[in-house]
Amino acid sequence: TGDGSAFDGETKSICPFCGVGCQVSVKVRDGRVVAVDGIDGPANEGRLCVKGRFGFDYVHHPHRLTRPLIRRDGAPKGMNVDPADPLTHFREVSWDEALEAAAAGLRGRGREVAGFGSAKCTNEEAYLFQRFIREGFGHNNVDHCTRLCHASSVAALLENVGSGAVTATFNEIENADVAIVIGANPVENHPVAATYFKRFAKRGGRLIVMDPRGQALKRHATHMLQFRPGADVALLNAIMHVIVDEGLADRQYIEAFTENWAEQEAHLAGFAPETVEDLTGIDAETIRTVARDFAGGTAGMIFWGMGVSQHVHGTDNSRCLISLALMCGHVGRPGTGLHPLRGQNNVQGASDAGLIPMFLPDYASVTDGAVRDRYAALWGSELAAERGLTVTEIMDAIHTEDIRAMYVLGENPAMSDPDLTHARAALSKLDHLVVQDIFLTETAMYADVILPAAAFYEKRGTVTNTNRQVQMGRPAIAPPGEAREDWRITRDLARACGLDWDHDGPADVFAEMAQVMPSLANITWERLEREGAVTYPSFAPDDPGQPIVFGDGFPRAEGRARFTPASVVPPDEQPDAEYPMILTTGRQLEHWHTGSMTRRARVLDAVEPEANCSLHPATLRKFRIAPGGDVRLTTRRGSVTLMAREDRAVAPDMVFLPFAYVEAAANLLTNPALDSFGKIPEFKFAAVRVENPAQA
Ligand code: SF4
Repeated sequence: TGDGSAFDGETKSICPFCGVGCQVSVKVRDGRVVAVDGIDGPANEGRLCVKGRFGFDYVHHPHRLTRPLIRRDGAPKGMNVDPADPLTHFREVSWDEALEAAAAGLRGRGREVAGFGSAKCTNEEAYLFQRFIREGFGHNNVDHCTRLCHASSVAALLENVGSGAVTATFNEIENADVAIVIGANPVENHPVAATYFKRFAKRGGRLIVMDPRGQALKRHATHMLQFRPGADVALLNAIMHVIVDEGLADRQYIEAFTENWAEQEAHLAGFAPETVEDLTGIDAETIRTVARDFAGGTAGMIFWGMGVSQHVHGTDNSRCLISLALMCGHVGRPGTGLHPLRGQNNVQGASDAGLIPMFLPDYASVTDGAVRDRYAALWGSELAAERGLTVTEIMDAIHTEDIRAMYVLGENPAMSDPDLTHARAALSKLDHLVVQDIFLTETAMYADVILPAAAFYEKRGTVTNTNRQVQMGRPAIAPPGEAREDWRITRDLARACGLDWDHDGPADVFAEMAQVMPSLANITWERLEREGAVTYPSFAPDDPGQPIVFGDGFPRAEGRARFTPASVVPPDEQPDAEYPMILTTGRQLEHWHTGSMTRRARVLDAVEPEANCSLHPATLRKFRIAPGGDVRLTTRRGSVTLMAREDRAVAPDMVFLPFAYVEAAANLLTNPALDSFGKIPEFKFAAVRVENPAQA
């Protein structure tokens, strides 16, 4: 504590930031969180990164919402509200008045209503949210930020291995001898997972890093393939071509556990390494060496991030990674597996809980009559059979006036959606917007009713990390003012909309979930309270769960995984004379997503206080911009001016732009073009013009 005094108390909980799901001890004095330490959770074994250790004090920031708010008559909607002084545009009201106002604008509007839930809320809150939209309004227009991060990975995994979750924990790398990390920057985005990757390399594991941008993990890599952006499918197909060509494929595994190999093998014939050198920027010999290394390993893992998923060919990218693992037999054994590194601390759990427009909990299709009957029996309501709209489709449907009212819990589409001008115009067009959050986010600036919520360290509930580990989050402090836990607000809003709900706490909701979610078999609330974490699937009440799955077949027809060949689809928008460079977006170590929490955390904001982007030194010289000087970035959708940072890891024809900064919002520039399968936008590639504003 700095002065040697004891804490008033310590509470075991989960870090509220990334999908690694580090377990923490939250130390409290005088009702305030004063320190956070790592404890021995299954994913982190005592470790924490800078966000988990020092990023906690946002919970005490003076911008916290502490009373329900209703927009003042005539107050304009939009990005013009000072979060420090919301009363210029809103008036404080009682909870009763706020819930009635929120419900009045939603009640009876059926398909005109849509909902965005949150991957930062608990499993119980995600479950209640999707139930509210489905039961309360009779359709499936409910989604959340998984659409923007790994929807394409999940689509490919469901299609080809029959499950959208990882096949092995990231900690399994300890048993691997070769691993690929592609389209991910774990040192910045999953820092504690990265410590396991570095230790793997240190003990002699062959680490193959593939990414258009260089990164810190490069220092630990056996091979660093800095390939041309958007060339993933060509590169991966060429690697697989070599594996077939040199007889390195695991024919026995392919025969026993897969289908559609003949088609895959024939497709790969057209991808000799020499034919993709220009497209990928990687020479044929390096492709051959990497193919031999990965296929020749006894146990291999593949990790990927949003560099793979956020493309119009994101599902194809993931299909290739799945095929690569399958053809080498690198699934289902110790040290093998497919692992998309999930983003938010509960994005796996929120997806499992059904916060997606095509699936009820545990990926049960809304189009399946037997599934709907099961839910109708449990909830007492008929459910819609048509898939709902996804995040960006909902924004489009607001513009066409098919959606007129929204309930947004913890999401910030006014910062996180692609082409923000379009998204913000949609939000301003809604008849009625209810936002439930801990701060007056950019999205809340468009709200008619704002419901103040508890932060993660102020509530109880379960979350599921990237490893399929269901973990218990516990409250360390009370919410400020009149802020309430999200599950309670959603329940009360559902009641105000006429639903006869009687849940009296998260344990009660979890018990309801367990009735319909096979993934929660043998996982009870009491067990999680006692043990802190259980990995699903768990085969018995005393089984801590299975870190590796699919050793004896896949949850598909005849137990076989599938090869789905992928062809090269170029990025939607190619550089040209007007927009000659490539823009790619992502996160930084210190800031989390749209910045609403980390930019209000004192240490993190002090380390990285200013909007910035990264360019190669040669590019800065070309535009006569000094490192630290201003640069203007313009795409077909918008323009931002911000500080330019020199970074040799960025290719000379690229710009890397983090998306946490409202004053230079990256998504004003991004391309909303979607992957046709996963419906994920192409955040990782847009044509951009770079200018020196001093010379314009
Ligand atoms: Fe939190 Fe992720 Fe850092 Fe762990 S690695 S402390 S979960 S942000």
